[in-house]
Amino acid sequence: MSYRSKLVGVFGYPVDENPSVIMNEAAFKDMNIDWRYITLLVKPQELEQAFAGLRALNFEGINLTIPHKISALKYVDEISQSAKLIGAINIVVRKNDDILFGDNTDGKGFIAGLQEQNITLQNKAITVLGSGGAARAICIESALAGCSKIHIIARTVEKAKEIVKIINENTTCTATCEKWTDNIDIGKCDILVNATSIGLYPDVNLPNINYDSVDKNTIIQDIIPNPPITKFLEKFLERGNLTINGLSMLVGQGAIGIELWTGQKPDLAVMKESLISSYNELR
Ligand code: NDP
Repeated sequence: MSYRSKLVGVFGYPVDENPSVIMNEAAFKDMNIDWRYITLLVKPQELEQAFAGLRALNFEGINLTIPHKISALKYVDEISQSAKLIGAINIVVRKNDDILFGDNTDGKGFIAGLQEQNITLQNKAITVLGSGGAARAICIESALAGCSKIHIIARTVEKAKEIVKIINENTTCTATCEKWTDNIDIGKCDILVNATSIGLYPDVNLPNINYDSVDKNTIIQDIIPNPPITKFLEKFLERGNLTINGLSMLVGQGAIGIELWTGQKPDLAVMKESLISSYNELR
């Protein structure tokens, strides 16, 4: 018997609109375990103290979101191989001997979302729109998972070039990139991913690509979780492509985090339902 809950949460700035608490607490309740997920506002200049607090208060771990994913590397004791290549962590796990272990579950969540639909990345060609933090994790993790080709289309092509270099130097996958121009043609690919922030609620914009240039057999993934059906996905639903929404990736990475912290697998459906109800309440 213990009256002390196990603590995890997220450090971010801003962080008020981060929905992770909803799906994590829903999962803990469903798993019947006394764990709490706390949303914590941590300013960039106070991240070091926040990590000292994390250790002092015996947190089991923490998620990291904007702007801490890179700067947090300084405050952990060990990091995973893929987090090292990505150059950022979004989760910390406190191991038995008080070692803080950093990992990155964004790309792993993307892969888990595809696996839910029985799609593997082995020998697939993927095209990714955007070259920010999420795109970087998705591209590097997909290359490590056996993707044969990755093509990045990015407004800031310098960031895409960095990702291409990391992939070509460290994996067997061939990576290329090009600068995003208006109404750009999408060449042949197995999976097209919108990894930009275009379309996140309340934004109703669409990535500026030539939608007619996308093959009917291309699988479409949008990483925007809110709204679950973005304008981007609507375009492809009309055209009959197989589409996967950003909730699958969000829940996928959250579930991997819960398993890293607790050693137990949560129910994905419970997590997804909790987010959908919460988003519906906002509208
Ligand atoms: P970043 O700010 O690091 O990257 C955003 C990317 O979008 C950049 O490449 C940026 O280009 C690009 N972009 C934004 N607007 C435009 C535009 N008008 N035209 C072309 N490119 C544009 O953010 P993250 O990578 O961390 O996150 C991106 C989105 O993914 C967020 O909306 C977030 O909610 C979502 N996300 C979802 C997750 C999930 O689990 N489903 C996990 C993580 C993130 P540039 O570099 O030129 O500014």
